[in-house]
Amino acid sequence: MKKLVEIITSEDVEAIFETIHARVALVESDGTLVSWNAAFESCQKKPVPSVKLNDLFSKTEEDALHARLTSGQLEHWTAYFALDGTTPANLYDCIFIPIRNGQILFIAERMESDIALQEMIERLNRQVKLFRTESEFTKKIARNKQIEMEAVMVQASEVAQVDPLTFLPNRRTIIRELQGEVLRAERYRSMLSVSIVDVDNFKAVNDSHGHSIGDEVLRQVASQLRESVRHPDVVGRYGGEEFLIILPSSDSNAAAEQADRLCKRVRETVVHVKGHDVNITLSIGVAQFQFGADTWDTLLNRADNAMYKAKSDGRDGWAIAE
Ligand code: GH3
Ligand code: MG
Ligand code: MG
Repeated sequence: MKKLVEIITSEDVEAIFETIHARVALVESDGTLVSWNAAFESCQKKPVPSVKLNDLFSKTEEDALHARLTSGQLEHWTAYFALDGTTPANLYDCIFIPIRNGQILFIAERMESDIALQEMIERLNRQVKLFRTESEFTKKIARNKQIEMEAVMVQASEVAQVDPLTFLPNRRTIIRELQGEVLRAERYRSMLSVSIVDVDNFKAVNDSHGHSIGDEVLRQVASQLRESVRHPDVVGRYGGEEFLIILPSSDSNAAAEQADRLCKRVRETVVHVKGHDVNITLSIGVAQFQFGADTWDTLLNRADNAMYKAKSDGRDGWAIAE
């Protein structure tokens, strides 16, 4: 194979010098610049170009540079070589090739110093670490927020199901419960009854003692109902002074027995509120679920009608729907 120098022409050499990134200059042994390539041009201080290679090295390197220019043999030198008078010098791998007439071909290639690289790596590492810490912190905050939100949602859904005055299941919840029990009764042909409980002459309680005493009376009636019904029966606030009791697995006779007990208990309990003694009675309508004929709302209607029957029978009592 032929050597490269045997093939390439002087025009080729010129093209090479003009396109490579290395800074190339022909200098006299005293450092005087004779000629240079395009990359070297950018080292030239503008508007006053350097006259000697020495101008592009620091004064403290003068002797070392001189030694390399005059050694008469190929020299390698890693030194700080200034791009121009203003920017800080960068580390360059410099080669000095003596050619004819004592002139030297100077070639400088930029190097990243190990220290600079190390610093850059450390800086990146610090940034990565900071980012990791920050994202861990953000994740933790987000997780805490999620837990808080879930707790609020649980509370909100509980609040949405409870009547705020009596703490019994509210109308929506007790009706949903009834719908579920009707489906179960239909599917398993199991017994189901309901009771609608209405406080008698409650308007008169409000009128004679005031609305807030009325509220307290309702609260106490609610708590008597809650204490009196046993699992699996459930009681909820159906309306203003009306309550709904669901009695799964009970026929109307069992529901009527319970109604009788409730009427007795409430009748015999004098409600004491802030110095007021209030006597309360209840009217209760009982209805048993009829398979194939009832839906949850017809069942309620029948119980309601029975309750009105108890009212028309003189109040403080119960009636069973037909
Ligand atoms: P009846 O024996 O026919 O049921 O007579 P009543 O007075 O109980 O029935 P009516 O439907 O005429 O009046 C019910 C009253 O209950 C009227 C209403 O102001 C009162 N009420 C409903 N909800 C509340 C409540 O949350 N607090 C209080 N204090 N009163 C209520
Ligand atoms: Mg009523
Ligand atoms: Mg009433």
